[in-house]
Amino acid sequence: MSSDTIFTKIINKEIPADIIYEDDQALAFKDINPQAPFHCLIIPKKPIATINDITVEDKSLIGHLYIVAAQLAKEHGFDEQGYRVVMNCNSNGGQTVYHIHLHMLAGKAMGWPPYTEKLKN
Ligand code: 5GP
Repeated sequence: MSSDTIFTKIINKEIPADIIYEDDQALAFKDINPQAPFHCLIIPKKPIATINDITVEDKSLIGHLYIVAAQLAKEHGFDEQGYRVVMNCNSNGGQTVYHIHLHMLAGKAMGWPPYTEKLKN
């Protein structure tokens, strides 16, 4: 699978995005189609297509994405009330961009569960 997604273009500043955090390993920007009052995406600069492609070498990088999420939550005042961080994988997971990303959703109470059809035993 090609690693050149729309997110690579955002990392390389070839297309605009509302960037709210950047360091040498990660970038966070507002989602173009927000699903909560605050919805940003936290991505590694290293292109990794899906959760299935994460390797042992990426352990600290993946941890770093969560550290950034917690830092942003604190900065934006969502840490006490709470928020949701989720990473979708492949089609059943709802993934549409094949460069892993944490969705950070905040500013309202989130619903659960995400799957609402009755499960058969
Ligand atoms: P996924 O469905 O892969 O879990 O999430 C991809 C997310 O990327 C979606 O929420 C979608 O709105 C967002 N997205 C797709 N293209 C762009 C873009 O060009 N700019 C920004 N800021 N977000 C995008």
